Amino acid sequence: MAKKVFPEAMGRLYNRVFVCKVCKAKMRADSAKVRLGKVKCRTCGSHALRPKKKPLV
Ligand SMILES: [Zn+2]
Repeated sequence: MAKKVFPEAMGRLYNRVFVCKVCKAKMRADSAKVRLGKVKCRTCGSHALRPKKKPLV
């Protein structure tokens, strides 16, 4: 049985993953909270986060 890739599920997975612009740490967070500045990097404490892009496979 071949594994199926679900584009919607992939988008949902990556839409909620953010990367710290300072130390490149990845973290899962609510995008609304990130926009409100309520999420900070747990490694360096920075609020500079960007959403992780889907890998081009
Ligand atoms: Zn950081």
